[in-house]
Amino acid sequence: MSGFICKICGACCKGDGSVFLYPEDIHTIADHYSISIQQAVDRYTEYVMLEIIEKTGSYLYIPYLILKKESGTCIFSNENLCEIHRLKPYQCKNTPFVSEFFSDKGWRNYLKKECPGIKNMEEENFFQYLEIGRKSEEAEKKYYYLLRNNSFNLEKILNINLKAPKIITENE
Ligand code: SF4
Ligand code: SF4
Repeated sequence: MSGFICKICGACCKGDGSVFLYPEDIHTIADHYSISIQQAVDRYTEYVMLEIIEKTGSYLYIPYLILKKESGTCIFSNENLCEIHRLKPYQCKNTPFVSEFFSDKGWRNYLKKECPGIKNMEEENFFQYLEIGRKSEEAEKKYYYLLRNNSFNLEKILNINLKAPKIITENE
């Protein structure tokens, strides 16, 4: 069975797409640099509202902090290597097999063109990574419940102040 081997090309650290952070990711970054949560948020993240159009046609807005980019590349990318490799956010640790990989064929096809680690893999060989996708779906749900229990207020959850969010859509 052929498996995924990351080619350490750095393609997933630049271009389209964002790294969506969970509160645990922010705490890890702040601890690593011995700075406050507010400082970590101000230095390394951007506040966004992810706009999702539901099957019913109604709009849903989910607040997230995403990693900042500089010239289209993640702020932690240094010559295609990750400066916080051991501590990198949940999404980065599990790329490319996060839940959308299995639920969104369009996204999977896009990644097959962009990620040399999966470019030559047969579709049937992706399913050995289904458990990673399932866990990432659970992590998303856990984040959603945390938001719901806190009136979708990230400032309250992280005890920080945020500027007005930018609205983004799913593949930004
Ligand atoms: S694009 Fe794929 S092969 Fe390249 S660094 Fe990211 S996961 Fe690894
Ligand atoms: S945190 Fe590291 S792995 Fe994640 S996008 Fe940035 S440079 Fe890439």
